[in-house]
Amino acid sequence: MRYISTRGQAPELTFEEAMLTGLARDGGLYLPAEIPAIPSDEIAALAGQPYEEIAFRVMWPYVSGSFSEDEFRGIIARAYEGFGHAARAPLRQLDANAFLLELFHGPTLAFKDFAMQLIGQLFQTALERSGERVTIVGATSGDTGSAAIEAFRGLDNVDVFILFPHGRVSEVQRRQMTTPEDANVHALALDGDFDDCQAAVKAMFNDFEFRDGVRLAGVNSINFARVLAQVVYYFSSATNLGAPHRAVDFTVPTGNFGDIFAGYIARRMGLPIGRLVVATNQNDILHRCLSGQGYHKGDTIPSISPSMDIQVSSNFERALYYAYDQDGRAVAQLMDELKTGGFEVSQGAMQALRETYASGRASETETGATIRSTLASSAELVCPHTAVGLKVAGEQARPGVPMVTLATAHPAKFPAAVEEASGVFPPLPSRMGNLYEKPERVHRIANDLGAIEDHIRGHIHA
Ligand SMILES: *Cc1c(COP(=O)(O)O)cnc(C)c1O
Repeated sequence: MRYISTRGQAPELTFEEAMLTGLARDGGLYLPAEIPAIPSDEIAALAGQPYEEIAFRVMWPYVSGSFSEDEFRGIIARAYEGFGHAARAPLRQLDANAFLLELFHGPTLAFKDFAMQLIGQLFQTALERSGERVTIVGATSGDTGSAAIEAFRGLDNVDVFILFPHGRVSEVQRRQMTTPEDANVHALALDGDFDDCQAAVKAMFNDFEFRDGVRLAGVNSINFARVLAQVVYYFSSATNLGAPHRAVDFTVPTGNFGDIFAGYIARRMGLPIGRLVVATNQNDILHRCLSGQGYHKGDTIPSISPSMDIQVSSNFERALYYAYDQDGRAVAQLMDELKTGGFEVSQGAMQALRETYASGRASETETGATIRSTLASSAELVCPHTAVGLKVAGEQARPGVPMVTLATAHPAKFPAAVEEASGVFPPLPSRMGNLYEKPERVHRIANDLGAIEDHIRGHIHA
């Protein structure tokens, strides 16, 4: 499989190259040149298979040139063996046609572990083979960083630097990033918000001298390997609910558009997904855009679902690429306009987006009320991101069509907000150990590209 850039001006790469590179040199995002379809009878045969087997069958066509079959099966096995649930991504029923897909049984209690644990094993295998080392730099609103650190800590050929917005992540998220003792882990608290962190990482990738000098590798949700890992649980859940013989809708609490875009890929592969519903919090740029109001940046307002506090939603570029009929030049033009505040979506592209995506938003009050009402009606304590999803799913549900809401994090990751809304304090699962007692290690840094690059150069283990 060859990988091409959404902006059409970067060299085509193999899966392994695209994975190690992250961002394309023309500023675009890598995508497979073609999306392989799985025939309906093969989709039907996935029902009831172990998660790892479904993972292999769904992802194999994308990676087959870069890894052997045995290697890839081993990678998948190691990626998910540390999960706290044998089903990996269990479904839970809330109502006749309403389901929660629990994606929080990984080591850092959020869905990011599905992709990051896989990517850690993919990197390890590829770098062991080549003997090279890389510097991983990532921006996080909380969950990506902890998942990346958990996936890469202690690996021989990797240093991992994570930029998070100082004071804007939850205590559990922060501690998951600052308490690992491994020397190759570097947590950086940036004076700024998540968009600043993300902009700094993009700028480092566009500074080719720095990028090549430290052999920069990206594991943010722009990395196609991460999107790919997330395609798997759409297949596992939908086939358990009757696909391919009936359609299933999904609602996805959305920030950077990576998780929901994986649903789009699953749909293009032949999984009968009726609708993909984008759920946003009060930072609702995606909902406004999908409602026909154009894509215009505002200020990020901190919310109780901080992993969705975002204005520039990186993977939306991939959705636009398909909505604009794979016209890289049109995408590059939109992204240029975004630099100065925003863009309008053409009528044709808007129509294409609406054929796939619906959207809704939840205010802070509605999010809290949904945590309360879900506990009362279904005895489930959900995290604020999941609550945003459930509120919007309730509005978008169709009679007779199962609606699966992705439960993106464990409530214990956001205990203050959950307790305030419900009166119930969500305890950490016992496998998390003494997270609240461990010493923290973090470097506070100004929102200044030169300072960040100097710090990284000075701290990699060459
Ligand atoms: C990252 C994250 C999201 C948003 O996912 P995207 O792929 O960025 O859209 C939602 N909820 C939680 C808990 C997250 O960690």
